[in-house]
Amino acid sequence: MKVLKFGGTSVGSVASLNNVKKIVESIPGKAVIVVSALGGLTDKLISTAKMASGGDSEWQNEMEAISKRHFDIIKNVVPEAAQTEVNKTIEALLQELKRNYEGIFLLKSLPEKVLDVIVSFGERMSSVIVAAMVENGKRYYSPEFIKTEKWYGKNIADRKLTDKLIKDTLGNLGENEKAIVPGFISTDTVSGEITNLGRGGSDYTGALIAAALGAEILEIWTDVDGFMTADPRIVDEALIIDHLTFTESMELCTFGAKVIYPPTIYPVFHSNIPIKILNTFNPEAPGTLITDHPQLNDLEVKGVTALKDVALITITLKSYNEIQEPLKRAMNVLSKEAVRIIPVANPDPYSELSFAVTASDARKSMEMLGKEFAPELSSGKITPPLLKENLAAVALVGKDMRNKSRLAARIGHSLRRQGINVEAHSGGNSDTTLIYIINQEKSSEALPLIHSLVFEL
Ligand code: ADP
Ligand code: ASP
Ligand code: MG
Repeated sequence: MKVLKFGGTSVGSVASLNNVKKIVESIPGKAVIVVSALGGLTDKLISTAKMASGGDSEWQNEMEAISKRHFDIIKNVVPEAAQTEVNKTIEALLQELKRNYEGIFLLKSLPEKVLDVIVSFGERMSSVIVAAMVENGKRYYSPEFIKTEKWYGKNIADRKLTDKLIKDTLGNLGENEKAIVPGFISTDTVSGEITNLGRGGSDYTGALIAAALGAEILEIWTDVDGFMTADPRIVDEALIIDHLTFTESMELCTFGAKVIYPPTIYPVFHSNIPIKILNTFNPEAPGTLITDHPQLNDLEVKGVTALKDVALITITLKSYNEIQEPLKRAMNVLSKEAVRIIPVANPDPYSELSFAVTASDARKSMEMLGKEFAPELSSGKITPPLLKENLAAVALVGKDMRNKSRLAARIGHSLRRQGINVEAHSGGNSDTTLIYIINQEKSSEALPLIHSLVFEL
């Protein structure tokens, strides 16, 4: 059985919804279909919430527009016989959404829990519409079986419980049934309150379901012909990649390629379920296949991408013989707080240690390093950690990257020649990824440059 996930643009208009209908109805037998909110709606729900909580009564017009968009779509895609019922369900959801906006407008504040409820309406509504338009479609409400728990202040999937609940709910579909599931949304295991899996999280809903059911494939239907060698909005010459390994796709996604929400890859990787990236607007295109093994005609280098909002931390050691011991201590203390560390080559292997972190973790990291090295700082054995912000980590992902030192050096030279300073680089410490830490504003210049050096020979 297949699990298919359709993103926002795929369910965002009458024309694209008709494509979704065709694609889903052509699947023989049963399938699970995960849907996002109508394209752009999650952003709209958030901006309207900010308006309302900020006391701007313009939120009412936004609310009107949200309602109109849904009713217009229903009129054009849902079979006439089902329209009254669907309109009634959507109307009830919209009323509930409106009550939430009224509440925060009066309160003049936007508690996180209320925002989580507000953003949940996008997928709650789109799934009702898709279920009504697809033959043999039946809606299943994911907050009943996608469960989250708190982890360092974030909501992460409660895998064990979620796995069991998915099997109980979706394990016995009818012969030709198409189970329509809202992506992104969930509930907290302990409190039962509505939560979500993070922006872009519908991909992850699909992966959790595919893994729990042992699906044959997870198809991610989006608005491009496949995973590309670079973000097509930044690099015009970006090419479609035929095949990627799980590890390569994970590296590309964690370093900023938006095509797949990064946590998506773990569950399917562990269950060895292939992922396919396909285009709802061009279903004939072969797309990109992601599996565990390289294939014969795979490209050596797969793609280049940039992760923005990165900070570089450097500590100078005054009287150490080597950096290993302080480096290990720094890594240990940061990993205890779940800080994501991007390792880079140390500028001076005897007296300087460096690594990058995401900007959101930068302050916390500096505090923790200050505490960890308090004795050494007061005795002057090390200097206070230095923080450099507004950086991007540009990542080039492929096979055997550790042995591509000539390519790595050539890229470094070209960046410098173009006036792009390389603040740090990975220096061959990963088999799959070369990293260049550069000024964030230069990343849209660096990507086409690196792309032309590697892919446009
Ligand atoms: P969906 O709404 O279907 O989840 P997303 O917007 O999350 O779609 O992801 C698809 C978009 O990701 C594409 O439209 C494209 O602009 C962008 N993108 C960024 N990097 C890449 C890449 N390397 N390959 C393909 N698309 C990319
Ligand atoms: N609708 C949610 C978002 O825009 C989830 C998703 O589309 O995957 O982030
Ligand atoms: Mg997405």
